[in-house]
Amino acid sequence: MIRTGIGFDVHRFKKGRALVLGGVKIACDRGLDGHSDADVLTHAVMDALLGAVAADDIGVHFSDTDKRWKNADSLRLLRRVVDVVRAKGATLVNVDVTVLAEIPRLAPHRVEMRRRLAKAMEVGVDAVSVKATTMERLGAIGRKEGIAAMAVATVEMKKKVRDSSALKNSIAAKKHKAGYPQPNIINLDRIIDNKIIRSAL
Ligand SMILES: [Zn+2]
Repeated sequence: MIRTGIGFDVHRFKKGRALVLGGVKIACDRGLDGHSDADVLTHAVMDALLGAVAADDIGVHFSDTDKRWKNADSLRLLRRVVDVVRAKGATLVNVDVTVLAEIPRLAPHRVEMRRRLAKAMEVGVDAVSVKATTMERLGAIGRKEGIAAMAVATVEMKKKVRDSSALKNSIAAKKHKAGYPQPNIINLDRIIDNKIIRSAL
């Protein structure tokens, strides 16, 4: 089954910080403010991936009060998100990102961003698209107050085991109606979810 997720993030500019987008350090007179390295592009990708497998959001997985994520390399966080996606029984199909930024010019860095994101997600570069646009000087982004990013992720879910559990239960229920002994109905969903949660943590 194909599933999609959407991600959006925005960070304000801050002088004296490095600007990191898609894991690439970009020469700029300002960086982005945030608890981690404030890689807004990668954060949007992470939220899209988590959305595709309905596994909360990056705020839940990587609290901004947790010292472990202070100045964290967001590609490292992305790798953890990919582990969550896998634990949910999904494989990544593709990711598409649009960065909204008045400055700096991002076109020269797009190939390297795609390469680094693809490596972190262990997919081919062809599965990762990075685009950039300005806001035509409109609004906060247009006033060069920060950078935003939006992403869409598509994943393929393996045939759900819970489907077969539902099928088994319905067969058992039919047999029971037909005069068979009390069916042993099990709730595989719960067991599977617990396993998923454990492996995702
Ligand atoms: Zn962020």
